[in-house]
Amino acid sequence: MRASKTPGPEISDPSTKESSDRYRDRWRWDKTFWATHCVDCYPGNCPYKVFVRDGKVIAEEQAATFPIIDANVPDLNPMGCQKGAAWSQLLDSPERVLHPLKRAGERGEAKWEQVTWDKALTEIADHMLDAIEDGGPETIIREGTPGEGGLLTGFPFGRLIEMIGGLTPDVNGVINDFSTGIYITYGKFDPASSIDDIFYSDFIMYTHMNPVYTQIPAYHFTAEARYKGAEVVLVAPDVSPSHTHADYHVPIKPGTDAALGLSMAQVIIDEELYEAPFVKEQTDLPLLVRLDTRQFLRQCDLREGGRDDQFYVWDTVSDSLTESPLETLDLGEIDPALTGAYTAELADGQRVEVLPVFELLKDRLKDYTPEKAQAMCDVHPDTTRMLARKIASKRGTIFCGGTSFKYFHSDLMVRSYLLVLGLTGNWGRKGTGAGEWSVAGFDGPFIFGAKEKPGLEETRRVLEMRNAAVKMFKDQDPTRTDEMAHIEMMRAMVPQMAMVPPAFFWYYHCGFKDNWNRKEWSEPTMQRDFDEYLEESLERGWWSGRPGPDVVPRVYFEVGGNTMRRTRGGQNQLLKSLWSNLKCAVTVDWRMHTTGLLSDYFLPVAHHYEKIAFMFPTPQLMNLTFSDKAVEPPPDVKDEVEIGILLAEKIQERAKARGIVEYSDTQGTERRLDDIVNRYTKDGAFRDAEAIADEWIVDSAESGNFDKGLNLEKMKEKGYQRFKNWGIGAMSYSQASDIKDDETHTAFRWHVEKKVPFPTLTRRAQFYIDHEWFLEAGEELPCHKDNPPQGGDYPFVLTSGHNRWSVHSMNITNRLLQETHRGKPNIVMNPDDASRLGIEDDEEVEITNDMGVFISPVKLSPGVQPGQIVSYNGWEPYQYRTWKGASDVETGMVKWLHFAGGSGHLRYWPMQWQPVPFDRGIRVNVSKLD
Ligand code: SF4
Repeated sequence: MRASKTPGPEISDPSTKESSDRYRDRWRWDKTFWATHCVDCYPGNCPYKVFVRDGKVIAEEQAATFPIIDANVPDLNPMGCQKGAAWSQLLDSPERVLHPLKRAGERGEAKWEQVTWDKALTEIADHMLDAIEDGGPETIIREGTPGEGGLLTGFPFGRLIEMIGGLTPDVNGVINDFSTGIYITYGKFDPASSIDDIFYSDFIMYTHMNPVYTQIPAYHFTAEARYKGAEVVLVAPDVSPSHTHADYHVPIKPGTDAALGLSMAQVIIDEELYEAPFVKEQTDLPLLVRLDTRQFLRQCDLREGGRDDQFYVWDTVSDSLTESPLETLDLGEIDPALTGAYTAELADGQRVEVLPVFELLKDRLKDYTPEKAQAMCDVHPDTTRMLARKIASKRGTIFCGGTSFKYFHSDLMVRSYLLVLGLTGNWGRKGTGAGEWSVAGFDGPFIFGAKEKPGLEETRRVLEMRNAAVKMFKDQDPTRTDEMAHIEMMRAMVPQMAMVPPAFFWYYHCGFKDNWNRKEWSEPTMQRDFDEYLEESLERGWWSGRPGPDVVPRVYFEVGGNTMRRTRGGQNQLLKSLWSNLKCAVTVDWRMHTTGLLSDYFLPVAHHYEKIAFMFPTPQLMNLTFSDKAVEPPPDVKDEVEIGILLAEKIQERAKARGIVEYSDTQGTERRLDDIVNRYTKDGAFRDAEAIADEWIVDSAESGNFDKGLNLEKMKEKGYQRFKNWGIGAMSYSQASDIKDDETHTAFRWHVEKKVPFPTLTRRAQFYIDHEWFLEAGEELPCHKDNPPQGGDYPFVLTSGHNRWSVHSMNITNRLLQETHRGKPNIVMNPDDASRLGIEDDEEVEITNDMGVFISPVKLSPGVQPGQIVSYNGWEPYQYRTWKGASDVETGMVKWLHFAGGSGHLRYWPMQWQPVPFDRGIRVNVSKLD
């Protein structure tokens, strides 16, 4: 067929010329700025260019200026997603709050009075002083955010709350992005290879992930690895967009991944596909366990005064009981037995039988042949065998995505997959490992917290002080690695920190005591009442238990987060407990959200592009990304640094007027309010965000993150900067790998190449936990346990994930993005279930359980398993008809075993070992609306 030529308008046509000029004019700009988006779109950090004309943002664009790092690997360009490309739409969105507000009706009644900053801050300061006088400073709570606004959002309030003696619930516990399974195994939760390292994989297994939705800027490395020959496996109950791009989709029954992982391990051992030298060197599988106590054989068993962390193997070379090296993973001349039974003579002359963990594991895996596992996880035995054989013969990675942490038995699920990686030699080598989230590479904020005055001289003093502290912890036990010494240093600082694991806040003050003690929602293998475990954990000093039962929260700051949306149980849980006791709830944010609607005061902050910001840097990107202030915020809106200073001034002023000069907090620390402004601003040196940002960058260059000479001015030109090293924080050491200028980053290379021990009890990747509670629960080794019926005896299982349009709730009302979908919340449901219940597409239904009810439109999709419903994360509760969403039916159960402590690595330090709440696999009913 011949195309006919359609005559187009002549360019000389004046009307067309006018419209083309108008179009060109639309895209004319007079300035550009670097920017990124601080929204925990992990790993985020995409560098953008923001275009400004006449003081208004007119557009943004992916920068795409990354250099090639590894000549064998595609570059990072371009990084971005549709949220970032529509970001500037939010600046003028109707949700923006442009003046400080004070509640004028009942909470949630949406009646507000516009007030001055002075009035709002005076009243808030008085509430804080009332709280200090009535119940002590720990009755003041600040919830934080990992994302919104970046490091300069959380920092000002975190610092102020810490100075007055208030508390900040550990954000990694609050949002449960903490993988207990990874922590139990490695003594740290955050190995995080760079996103381009996956290009080296031959076998990429995604579990509990939908990277096509959630890793938009990074997913191309998976696609490129696939072009190179890698096989991609998606293990997920439902068909997600990632299914389309995978070689295999394994539609597993929700929450049964431990059965699949253990079954793969069974095949690998049964068919002798495991990498024995790696297993002997890197893992605890050769360590000997006493059959009489089921605990590791320790030096203190064998001789009076022996170490309780010196463990043993049976050396097949000398045919004798031999100490497992403490200071290195290198086995030297030793060749430990993985199988067999041996005898050890104890200090009292008693002889006991000992077995390598590997023998015990083999015994346990008898319950997980592929045929037996099929009954648990619905995966066909042929598929299990295929997966096991493939990963054993390839460079493999298993991504245990964030959803896996949110199941009750997430630890068992993840431990089982890590066992597969350990058996097959798949960590510490390019293209291998279990990816997680992490923060590293920006020491400035941490150094700043320890400095008493500005300047490099003071920085050097802080660095020397830190070196001396690390040396002290190494002197205490010369076998400790640098990483272990840093972790012990963090643990020693915990009593003085504002940050506390949130479990006790929830238990005592948010009504979760009742939920956690409901036997019918809980785990049948829990041998005792929940409270018995909790009380024992406190009596034995494993936890501080702050804030205790008598420290009733009175003032609550939500800074950049959204408590009512993200807390499990939502309004059903919090309004009747925490919220009813609060004298003052303050939201600090740029937009009105559900928590803001239920607050007493709303303090409006500058949005991205209206303030400088740093998204927290991640090892996946290896860059510090800077976001500049491209335009001025609206006149009555301030950034968080300024608000923090104004609040500090107001606290000092009101404290003076009320005669409150000093007080002791619950830890006995003396707090003063008469000079808080000077201490907060370090004698006036840091009165704005630019001064703080510059100090952070310069200090980071001093500590070695970057080349010396980097400062804020240069960051404004460059936009981002690749790290030279991970820095001095304990989480930096978690990567256990050097940064090379021309290589992708692979976590754990120190462990594999340099034989540096892990920071676990046994100093090896640990699959056997001999803590008495784990033994009592039968979880000393990973096993499968069914998801308990949290929420009650109902026929549907509620799962979640991140939606495409808004990783969290920040973009969920972005008008441009709403036009790309139905623009309203939904639950996704299988059409057969819907037809059985007489439910049609887009019909509103009731979702109920013992926690409550929410009403939502339904989206029908055959991709969802029968019996499963999916409610993607991020919908604002106020988008639903009754202002209640999926979080309102979540139970927030925690696993009793995660209160275990006092042994080896099972001890809290910030962002690490702690009980976390679960929200996947909640039982619900779905019914038509009456
Ligand atoms: Fe990148 Fe996140 Fe911005 Fe999207 S929203 S462009 S992922 S930084």
